[in-house]
Parts: sequence; C-alpha cells; structure tokens
Amino acid sequence: MKLVKMIAIAAGIASAAACAPKNAEFKYSIDSFADLRIMRYQVPGWENLSLQQKEYIFHLSEAAKLGRDITWDQYCRFNLPIRHAIEDIFANYSGPREGADWDAFVVYAKRVFFSNGIHHHYAEDKFFPECSREYFAGLLADVANEGETAPAAPVEPLPTSNVYWTGAEGLALTAEELLDVIYDPAVYPQRRSTARDKDIVAESAVNFYGPGVSRKEVDDFYARQAVKGDKHPISYGLNSKVVKEGGKLVEKPWKVGGIYSAAIERICRELEKAKEVAENDLQKAAIDKLIEYYTTGNLRTWDDYNILWVQDTLGTVDYVNGFIEDYDDPLGRKATWEGLVNIKDAAASARTETLSANAQWFEDNSPVDPRFKKAECRGISAKVINAVALAGATYPSTPIGINLPNADWIRKEHGSKSVTIANITHAYNAAALEQPKSVLGEFAWNQAEIELVKKYGNVMDEIHTDLHECLGHGSGQLLPGVSSTALGEYQSALEEARADLFGLYYCADPKMVELGIVPDREAYKAEYASYIRNGIMTQFTRVELGRQNTEAHMQNRKLIAEWCYEKGAADGVPGASGSVIEKRVRDGKTYFVVNDYEALRGLFAELLAKIQRIKSEGDYEAGKALIEKYAVDIDPELHKEVRERYAALNLKPYGGFVNPEIEPVFDDEGVVVDYVLSYPDDYLGQMLYYGERYRTL
Ligand SMILES: [Zn+2]
Repeated sequence: MKLVKMIAIAAGIASAAACAPKNAEFKYSIDSFADLRIMRYQVPGWENLSLQQKEYIFHLSEAAKLGRDITWDQYCRFNLPIRHAIEDIFANYSGPREGADWDAFVVYAKRVFFSNGIHHHYAEDKFFPECSREYFAGLLADVANEGETAPAAPVEPLPTSNVYWTGAEGLALTAEELLDVIYDPAVYPQRRSTARDKDIVAESAVNFYGPGVSRKEVDDFYARQAVKGDKHPISYGLNSKVVKEGGKLVEKPWKVGGIYSAAIERICRELEKAKEVAENDLQKAAIDKLIEYYTTGNLRTWDDYNILWVQDTLGTVDYVNGFIEDYDDPLGRKATWEGLVNIKDAAASARTETLSANAQWFEDNSPVDPRFKKAECRGISAKVINAVALAGATYPSTPIGINLPNADWIRKEHGSKSVTIANITHAYNAAALEQPKSVLGEFAWNQAEIELVKKYGNVMDEIHTDLHECLGHGSGQLLPGVSSTALGEYQSALEEARADLFGLYYCADPKMVELGIVPDREAYKAEYASYIRNGIMTQFTRVELGRQNTEAHMQNRKLIAEWCYEKGAADGVPGASGSVIEKRVRDGKTYFVVNDYEALRGLFAELLAKIQRIKSEGDYEAGKALIEKYAVDIDPELHKEVRERYAALNLKPYGGFVNPEIEPVFDDEGVVVDYVLSYPDDYLGQMLYYGERYRTL
C-alpha cells in the first residue's frame, strides 16, 4: 500500500456531504487560477497542545519545509533555476505589473509554484506561459542586474549570456536557456515519460538518472544488486541518482556530503532540535535513526528507522520526512522527497474508541440473521489526524490519507500506520460550499435539503465512515466451510455495500445519540439524503459517457441507492409520488428526494440482512444477480444530464493548500513562551516567503 494520492477531485463529489465552517469568518478558498483552487486548512486542537508539543511540531515543520528544494530538483533539474528567475522577477521587476502579459506571467508562476516545477502536478505534462517568449525575455532582462552572478553593467541586448540562474549540482542557465526549457515543447514534454516506443528513463524530465543512462542499464544495474531469497530486502536505489562515469553506472546518494547535502544538513539540524523536545523515547530513538540515515545514506538504517517510526503510536504528534514514494520514477524505484507534520484528532479518535468499545452491542442489535452474527466482536480504532505542515511532494497538493511505510516486509512484520487527514477533507468540503455554484446546490431538491446537509453533512459523513471502517467490515461471520473468496469478482462491491449499510443503519439509531456521537435525532437525515443523491446520480459525473459503472465503491453506492429506489416504490412504480425515494423533475432537471427517512432506514436494514446472508453462505449467484441488476448499467439519459449539469458548474478539478504559519512568541528575556498559528490568505505570498526562508539549493 502506498500513500493515498491526492484525489483528482472534483471537490465535493468525492463526498456527497458538506459542512458549515466552524467559524463563519474563516474563508477556506483563497485563490484560483488555471484548473486549480487554493485553500487554507485549520488545525483544530492546537490550543490544547503543551508548549513542548508545539515546539516539537515547530522544529519538525521546519525540517519538513527545508526539504522543498529537493523535490523541485528531483522533478526536473531545470525547475530550480526557473523558480529562482521567477522569484527574481517578483522581487525586482521595475516595469509595470499589470496588463494581460503580466497577468499571464503571474498565472504561469503560480502554476509552477503549485506543481513544484514546470510540469502539471497530476497530468505530468509540461504547461506553457500564455505570455510571449519575448515578453518573458524582457522580464528576465530587466532583473538581470539582480541575477545571482550578475555582471556589473546592464546587459543589452538580449541574450543576457553572462547572467545565470542556478540550480542544484552546480547547474547554471542563461536567460535564453531558461526560455528554451520553458517554451520549447520538445524539451522535456513530460515529467515521467509514458512514451511506449522510447526509453522512458532518457525521456523523463525527473532528475533520477544522469545523461546517457538507459532503462536497460538501470534494470541490469539493480538486478545485479538484489539478493535472492532475502526476506528483508532494502529498497534498492531509493535514495540516489544513477549516473554514468567512465562508461559505468554509479549511484550518487542523496545524503549529507552527497547530492542535496546543503538541504539535508539543515533538515538534520532541525531534527536535532525536534529530538530534544520529542514526546517520548521512541520518538527520540526514531529521529536519531533518521539523522543517521540522512548522514550515511544507508538503506538498512532507513528500514531500522521505519521500524521505530511505525511503533510510535502513543504520541500526539507524528510526521513524515524523507524520500518516500516512488511514483515519480518511471521505473518505480527512486523516491521523491516529502514532508508532513500532523497531530492526532482527539475528538475523532475518541469517537472511534467509543464505537470500538461498544462493538458487541452493535453486533448484537444489527438487523441480520443471528446465525450470521459474531459471538465475540472487536472494533478497530481508526486513527484520524490533522495536518499542521505540508512539504515537498505533499505541498501544496496533498493526500487525504497516509499508509506507510512502503516496504512490504516491514508492513508484515512490524505493521503500518494508516490514517485519514480530517482537516484537509474538511477544507475541501467547506471550500466547495463557498463557491457560488456547488454540487450540493445543483443537485439537492430545495433549500431545506441544502440547509440540512450544511448543518449536519460533514459530521454525519465522518460518522458514517467511522461506522463503516471501525465496525462495518468487522461485523458478521461466515458459516462453517464457506470460503472468504466465494463471491469472486463481486466480493469487493458487496463487501463495501455491507459495510456501508451497517453504517447507514446505525447513523439513525438512538444509541448513537445516547453515546454522544450523533448530535441529535435529525442529523442522520443529512447522510441519507446525500447518500441517495450521490449513489443514484451525482457520482456518475466521474464516469465517462457510454461507460459502465465499474469501480467497487461506486458500484456499492449505486446498488444501495437503486435497490432502495425500487423496493420503496409507491404502487409498484419506482420514484412515483409517495415513494420512499421520489423522482422529481423541475425545469428539465431530475432530482431524487427522500420522502420517508424511517422507511428508508427499514430498507437499508433489509438489504443489509440480504447481503450478510449472501456473504455468510457464500451465495455467488445471488451476489452476482444483485450487482448485475442494480450496480452496473447507468441510465444513459440521466448520465448525460448529470455530466452536463456538473460541467456547467465550472468547478476547478484540482485543489491545493497553503500552510498555516507557526510563529514563536517570546517573553521579555527572549525565551519562547508559546507558538501561535496564523492562517495566511496569500498563496503567492507564501510561495515567495518560502523561496527566501527555505532556500537550500
Ligand atoms: Zn470499506
């Protein structure tokens, strides 16, 4: 399992629910350009941390942000010189900062900052400025005097051949060279090449392999290193660049004294400070190992570090810092640098603990045949975290969950940490609701439904997920002799449906209010309305026209919504007036409205009992019949309508975040007495600030 990559959202469809900001003043969405929306996220629980914990977070966050330049250089060796030139222009350009050309330059700059380079963060294709090359050249010429190795006299005319902008490993580019990289479509068109007919190592812009290195050479190089039968293999090649020297391949490690030394040394200095104020000895031991690894580059030490890191489950503060994911390497071997600092979400974690502690009650009272219930049932406490700092590959575009470490044998023998990042999901939902046009506003029947979802949607969505994860999947049992794989290709969708139904059924249970988890007896209606609307309609915005519904989670939602739609029919006509779920049309637009929430709960119970029987008895044919009838085929008319209505909303498909700033507060003697968080609303400002403060390469 890997880091859960940023969802290519469509903010707001991923989760049908939504929420109202806790603080009505707080604006989540702060900027938008191209296909991107920039948001802020809040850090609930910061006030409850001790000074020591805040100090620990502060140094871990500094250690994270100091790795930024590594990621830039890894994505393409020209990224840093280009960014430095852009930063120079913002700092020193003496001409007018207005007009279409300037605006186009600013959009390009913002996109480069967003992608940590010149390639789209998700699609990985190079994007281009919409101002002309001549205009860009003029900007560079204007600031050439301020260039890093600028000559004494102004350079006229272009090219400014003796002015350079620098990158890592002694790279220096003139203005003309920079402009070639930026504007020439033939120069590094893709960050990670997918060219079938060419050498993907040579074609990729990523800076993991030196000039003249071919895919075959790399494959052979690492094939020679692997030890047959090794039960604890290191992650060969994870932290190094492979270059050719004297016709032979050699590894150049990213470590103190190696490539990126200037950045890694500063990371280590902050880690040293963090270690002094860590929450427990295990954290201290882990940080020691991490520093040792950064110093030696030894991948055995990296494994030792991960084993320590995965054991620390008691601390409130946790972090990711290092060369982690290998998606960006065309050969899936070299890891991109990333950082992330987070704290446990106390309220959400308390909720999952309560559910787990009452797991047996939920099992005993579920609406399934007693023969299929577990006599002894234990829940799982899912860990929910809130991000405090995003860095490297996780900034500004960030995942909504983490599942690490990546080494399979460590996961098997020592476990892994799997967490969801609550404040990021929350910010996505809240920002979606701030938009003048939202998925909810478009597809909900009326204002009452919108208000209901705004009031309870976010919290009920979280609770439903908790029920699904902590109790749903673990509930029920197979009859003796039934294989866990009996449902074959229908297994995943049916299993997800079972867990979802368990959650839906209990969202409406008075016991949930009694336990203090669900706010009141009305709240569940928000989840029901959203679930049906999404399952029967809005989720198909993500399916191309003419295609079937094939993804397991999407099949599960369609199955549940369609089955209830049919079974709740009034007078045998699904959707007719008076049905549990009614289909209404207004101004040519289709809506699905829940008329009777109690009856809908009854239908969820019935379907849960049915699917539990199918699973417990391993009834493949019955499972197949359910999926084939309700989950696969999308009504083409409705599909077309949904896609068109969604497209008309004109929502930005990708999102990213600025970080809160963490600032120390000093007393009269200069002693740090607190750390305060502030939430900047200037995306470009944060990028330029980081460029100064965290420049290492
Ligand atoms: Zn699931």
